[in-house]
Amino acid sequence: VYIEARGIVDVMPAMVAFNFMEESIRQLNSEHTLDQFSDFLTDKVYDPLKQRSEGVEPEIVKKLKTTLVNQFKEQPDSRVIIFVTQRNTAQRVSEFLNESGILEQFLNTTTRQKTVGYVLGTNNTGSVQQSPQEQQRVLEQFNSGKLKVIVATSVVEEGLDVTSCNLIIKYNCSSASAIQLVQRRGRARAKNSRSVLLAVHSRVQNDESNAMLSEKFMRQCVKIIEQNGNKMLEKEVHKATVDIQRQRAAEAAELKQQMERNGRNIFTVNCAQCQWTFCKSTDIKKVSSNYMAFHPMVWDNVSVESQKKAPSYRNEDTQPLSILKCHKCQHLVGKAYKMRGVYLPQFAVKNVNFVAQNNDNGTATKAHWSGVQDELFFIGEATQHDFVREIMLNALGNTEANMDKKRILDLDSKQLMKLVESKRFLAMKEKKEQEARMKRAEDEENGVVPTNGSTEFSEDED
Ligand SMILES: [Zn+2]
Repeated sequence: VYIEARGIVDVMPAMVAFNFMEESIRQLNSEHTLDQFSDFLTDKVYDPLKQRSEGVEPEIVKKLKTTLVNQFKEQPDSRVIIFVTQRNTAQRVSEFLNESGILEQFLNTTTRQKTVGYVLGTNNTGSVQQSPQEQQRVLEQFNSGKLKVIVATSVVEEGLDVTSCNLIIKYNCSSASAIQLVQRRGRARAKNSRSVLLAVHSRVQNDESNAMLSEKFMRQCVKIIEQNGNKMLEKEVHKATVDIQRQRAAEAAELKQQMERNGRNIFTVNCAQCQWTFCKSTDIKKVSSNYMAFHPMVWDNVSVESQKKAPSYRNEDTQPLSILKCHKCQHLVGKAYKMRGVYLPQFAVKNVNFVAQNNDNGTATKAHWSGVQDELFFIGEATQHDFVREIMLNALGNTEANMDKKRILDLDSKQLMKLVESKRFLAMKEKKEQEARMKRAEDEENGVVPTNGSTEFSEDED
């Protein structure tokens, strides 16, 4: 339920996710005799989080709304198809758009009516279902103009005859193959028709360009096959496939080995001086070669101090900033970073220790994070989900003390960027001066004397 809710937050207003979560938990409770899932909702962070999320909409939702409104402003009789990946999403997007009422202004009637419908594939297997009759009804309403917009899963594309469609929106949904893309283009044949991709994950955007690339690639392959016969190609493809499989197997084996060794071990991460607990080992995740703590509560357990010496800048995505000290004993414990626009705490491995929770490792210290990973617990790579900006940022806005911490981080980040800018400027200036010096030296070597008006130089005089 939680994972699906996180998925919803990516493409829907936050409230949709909360409602989904509450409904699902109510459902779970009714299916089980014990009220065992209620804990989740009575957790003390739940209500404040929900209140803060009121009205929060991801960028993609705002884009969807403006795209639709602009389309109907320009062409009030437009028909729009929104493609989504999942059946649940189709239903949710259509419900949300109807409730938001943004398209009602383009209706001729004053009575409230639905402007958006959804169609799902007829192979009813998922939790959201639709009968062929219901699907037919929606399509008829769309063709007659009663419905302005339909939301469809990719599955339903086949057999969807829409000649009057002006706009196709791919909502965080990309064509699975070049073939689909070509078919989709062909479908939007109405006058002034166009197609728009709205994407959240960079993966989806990549898929879109991948589809275009593979379309190109397919044509090239056809040419090669026509010229050389396909024996050679078969060999090449087979070789590449074997290579990829071998590489994947090696990677999976290594990961599995590590998971088996210490994948289930859980530790707490504590101040080496006073044993104050900062977070759990499962909160530590890798971002390239950095080990960061991904839990909002960490901010409550550390104090933040401005760094006196300017930290060394790495790049826009990895800015080392303020010093972190133990909230209880003020022992230095790490450094705050700004990564991909999110403030993240990083513990210095030598200043913390690890206390085993479900294994017999006792209290352990390590000199390097790689040692922690090899001998104590599994550390996974941070995913896009870990970087959900609101979670770590909201944690820095929940108490007066944490807001002060955020102010220090903001200030340090600003100062660092200023420093970087002036360094860049000086480097550029230095480079220009050096180029000028080299040019002068070259000119002298070639016997060119700079002219200053009074002295003329001519080779003929020699
Ligand atoms: Zn301490």
